Amino acid sequence: MNDFIILRDLTKIYRMGEEKILALNNINLTIAKGKFLCLLGTSGSGKSTLLNLMAGLEKPTKGEIIIGKHHIDKMNEREVTKFRQLNVGFIFQSYNLIPTLTAMENVSLGLTFKGIPRAKRNKMAKKMLENVGLGHRLHHKPSELSGGQQQRVSIARAFVGNPKIIFADEPTGNLDTRTTYEVMDLMTGMAKEFKQTLIIVTHDMELTQYVDRIVHLRDGKIERIEENLMKGEHMQA
Ligand code: ADP
Ligand code: MG
Repeated sequence: MNDFIILRDLTKIYRMGEEKILALNNINLTIAKGKFLCLLGTSGSGKSTLLNLMAGLEKPTKGEIIIGKHHIDKMNEREVTKFRQLNVGFIFQSYNLIPTLTAMENVSLGLTFKGIPRAKRNKMAKKMLENVGLGHRLHHKPSELSGGQQQRVSIARAFVGNPKIIFADEPTGNLDTRTTYEVMDLMTGMAKEFKQTLIIVTHDMELTQYVDRIVHLRDGKIERIEENLMKGEHMQA
């Protein structure tokens, strides 16, 4: 009843010439609103594929993806793009900022699709960059920022439109241990404040302390699901 994201019999097969790669093999999973979930598994276990399917970036070979009342798998390209712009924030391992734009321009860009006027967009972007501790770096380009700072910009970009869901694919994969904790504290703190659903892909056990549930993936299948009763009890390195 409280299920916000529903995945039913989800299968993804990639075809490479003659070869078929079974990236996801009949995934069934439900996620309640406002929960933090981690997709954990070794490289090649299907984590990114699952995230990309949920975000509507790729189509399943078989199965259903329902988010709220929306059947993502039945949407056409235009509908799914619109859905993403209005409902989803994305954080990537390699930040994926636009190199020619400043921090503020990178953050405000996504708001254009929401029809928010320019002055308001800039105000929102500035405020969000201040929230992530980058009020003094508004006009820097990505190449003029450290890795941790670039990831903060991408966090600001993901959160600025107050989306219902935040997807993060190996968000700390390029960061050192101290920055990893800073970025995780920031991301989970904001998602909690804004009551968002947060789905993090990682192979790093350390990150699981931040989430409510850990979904262990192996060879495209859910191996087991673990409830984390110790959430938030993490210790900083
Ligand atoms: P993870 O994120 O857990 O490392 P992925 O979801 O990226 O794993 O990949 C799962 C499997 O699907 C791997 O065997 C990978 O090689 C394969 N795969 C992923 N994307 C593609 C693609 N675009 N074309 C072909 N095979 C792919
Ligand atoms: Mg991956």
